[in-house]
Amino acid sequence: MSGEGAAAPMPSGATGRQWRAICACGWTTRGPTREDVGPAAVAHSNAGSHDPVRVEEVPTSAATASILSLHFDPAQGLPPQDAMTAPLLRLMLATDDVRLSRRLFLETSERLRAAVLGGMQWRLLTGEQWYGLRLLCLHLDGAIDALRTLEGTVSPDAVRRLLTGQADVLKAFETVSSIAQADKATREQTFVFKVRTWVVAHYQNQDVERLYRAYAGVPGYLDGMVTGSNVGGLVRFLLTDTLVVLLLLDAAGAMLPTAPDTDAGRARLRTEVERAWAAVADEVLPLAEDLTTFVDSLVYTLVKGRGSSRVERTSIDIPPLLRAAWETEAARRANQQSEQEGVGDGASQVTT
Ligand SMILES: [Zn+2]
Repeated sequence: MSGEGAAAPMPSGATGRQWRAICACGWTTRGPTREDVGPAAVAHSNAGSHDPVRVEEVPTSAATASILSLHFDPAQGLPPQDAMTAPLLRLMLATDDVRLSRRLFLETSERLRAAVLGGMQWRLLTGEQWYGLRLLCLHLDGAIDALRTLEGTVSPDAVRRLLTGQADVLKAFETVSSIAQADKATREQTFVFKVRTWVVAHYQNQDVERLYRAYAGVPGYLDGMVTGSNVGGLVRFLLTDTLVVLLLLDAAGAMLPTAPDTDAGRARLRTEVERAWAAVADEVLPLAEDLTTFVDSLVYTLVKGRGSSRVERTSIDIPPLLRAAWETEAARRANQQSEQEGVGDGASQVTT
């Protein structure tokens, strides 16, 4: 029940290499050699849109996850008359929603990586990917609000006492607590709050209007396209997907060039976008990580300390795209390390 990895959770200990094929539709296969996955990837492509399937060598990953479950009497483990219980239940709800929206973002990002740049699947998945991030901001904001209530009910010191001896958890608590304790004006300037208010919980009219007015006439920003399909759920309004990207960039403080369709404009746009996404990745994903680490341990410690409980261990299959997200992050870290050590590594290849 403790914390998860920064990008995607996966049991540690995987050290070998494997080959993996991944398609933008979400299909994956894995095997020990390129010859084990290549033909399957070609067959998958031929049976479908004939789009390329991404085939690459990545660190090996576990196929199953161990689940530790703690069974208890609710009235005893989290007593209804305890003032801390209601805000804690809110915090538990929001934390699970943070976990699931982060997964949606990471899993959709994997599909997007496998899509042909600029193709239809890529364009549809871009909007879907940012939806995962928007949801994550909504639930993070809810979790921070629940934590603020909890710290108003029992003091931060009382929470620290409960977590005595758990150094990593206390550190995670200090991070999320400092955000919860910030005043309203400071909070309203954060990326998480802006995204939650502008483009998830409220779709705030004034910000939608402000950015649409500013960019509708500037070539290169908004994609004048809407789609239709014979399959429900696949249709997206590309126009508003590109507007959302502008809203996210604005919330991240990016300064967008006024002529993005020139070489200088494109270069400046690329720099700004990379800077903004790096800032988002540095702020949002670690915050989600600290929140889950803290809340998971707090709940576990409380329930376990309040009398009889029964522990059970089981294992479940890991969803293939979640596995892929972990493998991609592990490959990125390994490449970073070999670059630092001056060793080349041509891990990624795309095949049809
Ligand atoms: Zn496919």
